Amino acid sequence: MDNCKLLLTVMIIITLLFLTGCSTGQFFIHRPKAESGIIDLTQLQLENDIIQLDGEWEFYWNQLISPTEIDTALMTGYINVPSSWNNYITDKGTISGDGYATYRLTFVTDKKGRLALKIPRVRTAYKLWVNGELTGSSGTVGTTRATMVPQYLPQVVFFDAKQGNNEVVIQVSNFYHRSGGILESIKLGSEKQILELQYKNIAYNVLVFGCLMLMGAYHLALFFFRKKNTSALYFGSFCILIGIRTLLVGECFLIHLFPQFSWEIAHKIMTLTYYLGVPLISMFFRSVFAKYFDARINKMAQIMGAVFGIFVILTPARVFTVVNPLYQIWTVIAIIYMFGVLIKISLHKEKDSWFIVLGASTLLLATLNDIIFLSIWMNDYRPAFLKALFRKGDLSSVGQLIFAFASSLLLAKKFSDSMEQKEIITAKLSEMNTNLDKIVLHRTEALVEANEKIEHQKHELEKANRRLKKLSLKDPLTKLWNKRKYDETINSEWNRCLRHQRPISLIIIDIDYFKEYNDYYGHLAGDRCLTRVGQTIKNSLPRPTYMAARYGGEEFIVILPETEKEEAVRIADMLRRKIEALHICHEKSPVCNYLTASIGVASMVPTINSSHEKLFKAADKALYQSKANGRNQVKFSS
Ligand code: GH3
Ligand code: MG
Ligand code: MG
Repeated sequence: MDNCKLLLTVMIIITLLFLTGCSTGQFFIHRPKAESGIIDLTQLQLENDIIQLDGEWEFYWNQLISPTEIDTALMTGYINVPSSWNNYITDKGTISGDGYATYRLTFVTDKKGRLALKIPRVRTAYKLWVNGELTGSSGTVGTTRATMVPQYLPQVVFFDAKQGNNEVVIQVSNFYHRSGGILESIKLGSEKQILELQYKNIAYNVLVFGCLMLMGAYHLALFFFRKKNTSALYFGSFCILIGIRTLLVGECFLIHLFPQFSWEIAHKIMTLTYYLGVPLISMFFRSVFAKYFDARINKMAQIMGAVFGIFVILTPARVFTVVNPLYQIWTVIAIIYMFGVLIKISLHKEKDSWFIVLGASTLLLATLNDIIFLSIWMNDYRPAFLKALFRKGDLSSVGQLIFAFASSLLLAKKFSDSMEQKEIITAKLSEMNTNLDKIVLHRTEALVEANEKIEHQKHELEKANRRLKKLSLKDPLTKLWNKRKYDETINSEWNRCLRHQRPISLIIIDIDYFKEYNDYYGHLAGDRCLTRVGQTIKNSLPRPTYMAARYGGEEFIVILPETEKEEAVRIADMLRRKIEALHICHEKSPVCNYLTASIGVASMVPTINSSHEKLFKAADKALYQSKANGRNQVKFSS
């Protein structure tokens, strides 16, 4: 898969390179050498080929001579074209960049016909004659800074070539740039060829401009919508910057569009794009490969860019072009460092890094090429081996385009990767969400179930509690209430009767000679006997409000709320008779053959000063009396 991508990228880069090749590739360019101001073109096919008019041109320093006067003028010497006139040695000494001069070249053809010259940027104004006819100019040539107007305007001029000698005369003046003269080759060819060359150059420039601006705008938009994406900001700005630059270098398309555009400002903008391009690239590198790119180098690039940038803005081109070599040296250092970074990155096989490594290497190499090509060293001294090595000075725009493309690929890759990642995460999250729903549902159900269980258990517990409480109030043998229940009830009934001022009566029943019964008939029989007596008492009570309880041992007690003495005595006697009527044999009883009971009754209307204990004592006293009186009888005590 990765190989596939690599192949695709390489193919695209090759296409780009091919496109750049189109600008000159189709033409065969001859480079015959002019000697002593004469170049012989008689052996060449001028209709098909393009000839670079390089070599020794006649040089007239500090003279602006028209073609008619040139034969009588005093020639300073020969000068190499292309090169700056800086450091040219005359008998008056070495010359600087400032000044003016006239150039002349004679070329020899064996055919006459319509031909064209492609004139590059000349520093910084020129006027050109071919065979005595003024055919082109750029800016205004003058002998002082005040009288001349600089302009860069690469253009094509046409003329009719004669058979034999043809003469090209160019007046050049420069008081604006550090270097003066003709620094790029002048090309000669047929009208068609030269025009085609110019069109292709312009088309290529505009294509690169369009591509870079589009990429720039796109990445700035990426940044605009996601401010965290600073690499897109740096990269977008870099593309825009270099895009603008493409209109100011090469064919200087901007000047074609706006011929009046100030040379100073154009030059400032062009230099600024270079000075700011370095920190932007550095910031881009740093944002993409933070761990490989030293923050100090980045800071340094920013400071250098800012300092030189401000210098460019504040000073005229004549001044700031002097410090340009310093910035070029710094750039070379930065490029070497960045190469180191690229090597480190490719050694670590960082994910998708080869996009950047490939693109950035192209850019760095192309920039290095251009810096060397445009350096003072090359312009002023032209060492032969370097001249052979660095033949073109406009590679960086291609490099930038390739870099921009490669970086776009990386950003696009990162973008789609993160989209993919996002989709995966979203899927995972929604899966987790559904699971969570299920888990919550499950837990809730379990909780509800547990709650119901607890509720049920609570209910059961309460029931058991109630049962237990009841049990604790019941006598297990006779199933009658016990003494505790009696204590509770007498209290409340006493108070109720106290509130309503109603009488309350109490009956205490004691079985006669029960010890003897037990001794004679056995304890179990005694128990059965107690149960029967208890049930008899309970079942014989005429009102539901009456309550019978086993008070202890063989003693029973009955509470009769709202019952007068007479009624209580009557009920007591009825109970006594019912017990006797049970006919439970009791042979050992001195009273009777059957089981009997002695009963004490008490009755009173409760007052605040009295208490139910008092009532009990009275009933107990009555019981004592009935026992003392011979048992099996009812006694009342008030
Ligand atoms: P008196 O006629 O003077 O009341 O004499 P008594 O023997 O009936 O009364 P006493 O108080 O002398 O004895 C009570 C007897 O009741 C003693 C005990 O054997 C018997 N008794 C007490 N509780 C129970 C019981 O739960 N079951 C049985 N089988 N006997 C009991
Ligand atoms: Mg007793
Ligand atoms: Mg007794």
